[in-house]
Amino acid sequence: MSIARTEMPESSPYLLVDKQARAGRSTVNVGGVPIGPGTFTLIAGPCAVETPEQTLRAAEMARAGGAALLRGGAFKPRTSPYAFHGLGREGLLILSGVRAETGMPFVTEVLDTRDVDLVATHADMLQIGARNMQNFSLLRAAGSVGLPVLLKRGMSATIEEWLMAAEYVAQAGCTDIVLCERGIRTFETATRNTLDISAIPTVQRLSHLPVIVDPSHAGGRRDLVLPLGRAGAAVGADGMIIELHPQPEQALCDGKQALRPEDMPDLRALMEDVPLIAGRLAQTGPAGPAVSAVPTGVNGTP
Ligand code: PEP
Ligand code: MN
Repeated sequence: MSIARTEMPESSPYLLVDKQARAGRSTVNVGGVPIGPGTFTLIAGPCAVETPEQTLRAAEMARAGGAALLRGGAFKPRTSPYAFHGLGREGLLILSGVRAETGMPFVTEVLDTRDVDLVATHADMLQIGARNMQNFSLLRAAGSVGLPVLLKRGMSATIEEWLMAAEYVAQAGCTDIVLCERGIRTFETATRNTLDISAIPTVQRLSHLPVIVDPSHAGGRRDLVLPLGRAGAAVGADGMIIELHPQPEQALCDGKQALRPEDMPDLRALMEDVPLIAGRLAQTGPAGPAVSAVPTGVNGTP
C-alpha cells in the first residue's frame, strides 16, 4: 500500500523516516533478529556467493565471529562488465540452503526491478547497494514486497539524499529500513572510500531508522575492518556488516577486504567488547549492558 503525500512541510523534507514521525528510534526485525537501539547486530558473510561449500563455511565463520545474520551477493554490481556478476538464482538457492542448515537469516542485494520478486521469495532482507541508492524505481519496488530493506549510502550521496532515498522505500509501504554507512568517495586514495563516521550520529538525530556501519567497503582493506568497526560501535551504530571468506585469496570479489578464518576470534572479541566500547555499560550498571552484541540461542552461539 503506498502512502500518498502531496505536500511537504518546510521543517522536514522526510515525512515517514523523520525522527519526529515516531516516538522513539525504530527497531527493524530481520527473520527474528532485531536491529535497532540497544543492539549491535553483526551481519557477516562473503561479498559474493560462489559455491555451496564456500557459503556454508563463510556462514560458520560468521557465526563463530558473533554474527546473527548472513550476507552474500547473488547479484553483484561490478565496475567492470567482464567481472563476476554473481550466480543469480542459483546463488539465492545456495543462500536458502545455508539458512536451512545454520538457522541464519540472510540479506542479499537486488540490482534490478525485474528481480525484486525473485529475490524476495528467498531473502529475509533486501539490500539496495550504494550504486543503486538513487534508482528510484528500484527503491519503490523493493519497498513494496513486504521485506525489510538495507539501504546503503551512495558513494557520493549527501545524508539528505540518503534519507530521501529511504523516504521512497517508506512511501512504497516499507518503513522497516536499516541505513548503512559504507564510506564515501573523497580525494583520499589510500583507502577504498572514507568512512563518514559522523554520518552515524547525524542520521540518528535526523531519523528514527537504525543505522549500521560497513567497515569492509569503507576501508577496502582487511586490516581496517575491525578498527573501523570499533569506531562504528563507539559512535553508537546499531550494527555492523562485514565481509569474510574461507579463502580470501581465491575470492571472486573483494578478497582484499575479506576477513579470514583466523580473524574470527578477534571479531568475536570486538563483539564481546561492544558494551564497553559503546559506553553504555555505565548507564545500566553491573546488572547487564544495554547493548547485546553477541547473539545467543537460535540465532546465536556457535
Ligand atoms: C556489497 O555489499 O557487496 C556492495 C557491493 O556494497 P556497496 O553497494 O556498499 O558497494
Ligand atoms: Mn563487496
